[in-house]
Amino acid sequence: MGKPRIGKLRSLSSKYSAFTSILLLWVVATSLWWDIHLHTFDWTKGLVLCGIVLGVGAAISQFTNRLLARPLTLLEAGITSVREGRLEPIRVSRTGDEIEYLGESFNRMIAALASSQDEIRQYQELLEERIRQRTQELEQAMHGALAASQAKSEFLANISHELRTPMNGLLGMLDLVLDSHVGGEQREQIEIAQRCAYSLLDLLNDILDLSKIEAGRMILEKVPFDMRSVAEDCVRAQAAKATQKGVEVRYEYTGDVTNVTGDPLRLRQIVANLLSNAIKFTEKGWVQVRQSLSRNADGKLTMVLEVVDTGSGIPAEKVPLIFEKFTQADSSISRKYGGTGLGLAITKRLVELQGGQIRVESRVGRGSTFTVEIPFEVAPDAVPMVETRREQRIAAPAARQIRLLLVEDNAVNQRVVLAMLRKKDYKIDVANNGQEALEKLERATEPYSLVLMDVQMPVLDGLETTRAIRRNENWDYLPIIAMTAHAMIGDRERCLQAGMNAYVSKPVQQVGLIAVIEEYLASGTGTANVTPASGVERILTDKLMQQDRALVSEMLRLFMEVAPDRMEKLETAAARGDAETLADEAKRIGAAAEHIASTSLGQCARSIEDAAARGDFDAVKADLEALRSEIRSLEALTT
Ligand code: ADP
Repeated sequence: MGKPRIGKLRSLSSKYSAFTSILLLWVVATSLWWDIHLHTFDWTKGLVLCGIVLGVGAAISQFTNRLLARPLTLLEAGITSVREGRLEPIRVSRTGDEIEYLGESFNRMIAALASSQDEIRQYQELLEERIRQRTQELEQAMHGALAASQAKSEFLANISHELRTPMNGLLGMLDLVLDSHVGGEQREQIEIAQRCAYSLLDLLNDILDLSKIEAGRMILEKVPFDMRSVAEDCVRAQAAKATQKGVEVRYEYTGDVTNVTGDPLRLRQIVANLLSNAIKFTEKGWVQVRQSLSRNADGKLTMVLEVVDTGSGIPAEKVPLIFEKFTQADSSISRKYGGTGLGLAITKRLVELQGGQIRVESRVGRGSTFTVEIPFEVAPDAVPMVETRREQRIAAPAARQIRLLLVEDNAVNQRVVLAMLRKKDYKIDVANNGQEALEKLERATEPYSLVLMDVQMPVLDGLETTRAIRRNENWDYLPIIAMTAHAMIGDRERCLQAGMNAYVSKPVQQVGLIAVIEEYLASGTGTANVTPASGVERILTDKLMQQDRALVSEMLRLFMEVAPDRMEKLETAAARGDAETLADEAKRIGAAAEHIASTSLGQCARSIEDAAARGDFDAVKADLEALRSEIRSLEALTT
């Protein structure tokens, strides 16, 4: 902004001196005109008078300039410098009049302004400092909270993982005790202990899953799989529980394809959680699992899974809470059914981790519908399903004598597995880690028939060890069975991809472990791909021709030992309409059938399991009759 300059002639002093000079000039001119009029004009007097006029004019100009113009100019410069932000005292002319007073007042005003501006600056600085401090404190608090939450999740993940090792030992030992001839009240007590231990293990697994997700350590698999069979398996597994309550479970699938690429085990966990809740909170009516797969415009696939029930429903105000961890909609109902409030929290996080979403619609007393949408990629046709690995890998072990190599770092687990296999006549060597396993394989004078491989081990883990084994042509045939923990669920596919043939879940169960070992030992001659024709003769002739005669008769003898007990349990359960026990027992017989390679026995067991799941006890009775005659034929062959 330009400062307005006052023109010289327009200044107050110029105007004042000009006015006085004109006035005097007029007086002189009038006086001279009068002299001329009276003929008394005198040149000298005229010149003197003009000189006086000029002199007085100059003096007045000088005087007004000093008294008015200079002080005012200084004042104007002061105002300008204040306007430009310089709050310094201005120079004031010591004229001793109003202008000096004005200048002094102006300086006082500048001083007041400067001090208030100082104060404002100080306040501003203080405020900025406080904001900086507060931001720093908040940042520290946030980092602290994040670190604490991370540490908590890490701690939980570690502790639950650590807890699971002794739990596996405990469960293994309980399983062994139950498999011995313990009976009566003691058996019941041990069975209760086993159930408690399993619930504890479930809880540990839930905590481990949740803390792994929260610590950002949950890694999703990307493998081709059949999503329909994943859901169907879950429905099948839980149907007995529902039937026992008188609740019908239905499954429905719509879609052209069922093969997708993604994480099958996480999908299984989602379906299992939703279905188990639906069954748990439904007293009468039905539960339906609807699954569909549709192709989007961009070629991607979206799975929509609906779990519908006619159960208790959830009050509207509780709906937003149920996906929070440790939250239950109605603690009294939940107390009745048990649970920890972790299932849906894990489910939601698993769904979101896969880029999907979950929602629920529910009406109290009417039921609930949980809907999950997850995008999947199309499975490439050429890629074989991971489950087919078995068939690819099975080859012939040449050895007659059965030597196993157990690779396991944990002493308790070593003892459990050794105890479980004690009744089998295997020669078992133990390696404490992968490195030791490779050395043992290298140095073995007689080849091993099979390797049982733990996954997490120090020095060299199970996956690396398997890869090393597979790189060696001599060991390409060697069946490797992984022993994976539930928490390492995603590792299962990795195990198969690393070159293992199969896996058993920890806690390892005797029946399952023996069944899978024997399946691989039996298929060692390369006949595993051949599905045996049904019928006992066929089994035995195949078996007897192809593998150790002693082993087969031992397996059969063992089965015959437990068969009456199993039959009795089945019959009592059928009479009581106890679908769960029926399904459990049928499963055990199924596993045993597998390890004596009796397809017809396996079929009978499966059919009992299915009928129990449907709650069709007439069919169960017919199937039990068939089972009895199967067992009789087997018995005839052992004598
Ligand atoms: P919980 O271990 O208690 O089952 P979840 O996280 O799986 O924990 O479920 C949280 C709560 O949500 C349950 O306690 C129950 O109150 C409610 N809930 C979940 N599913 C259903 C359902 N299908 N019907 C009624 N209530 C349900």
